Amino acid sequence: MFRLKKENLNDFLAGLNASRVFFVSDKEFSDDYPFADRLIIDSPKEEKELIYELFEAIDPDCDVLLVKGDHKLVETCEYIARKLRMKFIVDGQTVCKADGIIVKEIKEKDISEVLKDIKLFVLDMDGTIYLDGELFSFTKDFLQAVKQSGRDYCFYTNNSSKNKLDYLDRLNNLGIPTADERMLLSTEVIIEYLKSKYSKDTTYYVIGTPSLINAFKEAGLKVVDDNPDVVILGFDTTLTYEKLSKGCHYIRNGCDYYGVNADYNCPMKDGAFIPDCGSMAKLIERSTGRFPEFFGKPSRYTLEYIKKITGYKEEEIAFVGDRIYTDIKVAEGTKATSIMVLTGESTKEDIYRFIIEPDVTVESLETLIKYL
Ligand SMILES: [Mg+2]
Repeated sequence: MFRLKKENLNDFLAGLNASRVFFVSDKEFSDDYPFADRLIIDSPKEEKELIYELFEAIDPDCDVLLVKGDHKLVETCEYIARKLRMKFIVDGQTVCKADGIIVKEIKEKDISEVLKDIKLFVLDMDGTIYLDGELFSFTKDFLQAVKQSGRDYCFYTNNSSKNKLDYLDRLNNLGIPTADERMLLSTEVIIEYLKSKYSKDTTYYVIGTPSLINAFKEAGLKVVDDNPDVVILGFDTTLTYEKLSKGCHYIRNGCDYYGVNADYNCPMKDGAFIPDCGSMAKLIERSTGRFPEFFGKPSRYTLEYIKKITGYKEEEIAFVGDRIYTDIKVAEGTKATSIMVLTGESTKEDIYRFIIEPDVTVESLETLIKYL
């Protein structure tokens, strides 16, 4: 960070090759910097509302974001400047009573630096390697480049309505034959946990699809229709009122209770959504007052499971996905890396909305190829 005298600003901008400046301020300073495109914030706003308004208004093609206002406005603008890779200038007189303008160079983390120590890419599926079941044109090239660089990849899905075979078949049909142990599901994460926590006599009432119930049975867990010790909620596309009310009854009566994946919606064709496990949990919460712990992304159990199954260390793992609050959040507060792709659900706006920052954001897997 360095300071610059106001009268030198024009020269400084010329030196930056900055052809366009966007100025954000509150009302008090609305006449400053008449040469710039501008947004004047006319009333105090909640942080999220402010982020949204700024993001809507700021033209990302501008080179410099210049801000004058209170601390909160400055901080929020700095965040947005970083995301939009704009140079960031604060007219600091109002912030730190300093004379002049504070200039800060904002740099995205260098992608090759981030990927240097990565040995395993944990790839989300829908929105990352394909969309609506159609493989992206670059997916195979990416997978090959990962292999050629001596690295490894696996697939991971939060969807607890289907089983492993469904996914292996799907990958095979798309021309990506995949070994069993490289296709990981949230269902496996919860099963692993239950097996380590409970005895083999423990009984489970599973609100889930036949696929989920089969996965439980195949793992040797006792699935029952009545008087269980534990209730499990999955992404049940075969949900009935009977299952729901029975489950609520057992949960209300004090059974242990877990959810498989926290997603509220599952993306479908043409931008449509259907309610997923997290939404069903909200319904049950209204009835019983209890909300379960979840095991898919972004839970810490997912990362632990991946480490255990693949043998890689936390700092060697990169999660790649299109959804901020699962694919990216799973790496938050850990040594694992998060890479967001913009080929699926989340847009750049979501980064501001959720205030979770991926380590790297790229257009698609294709962008990563040259850094491998
Ligand atoms: Mg996805």
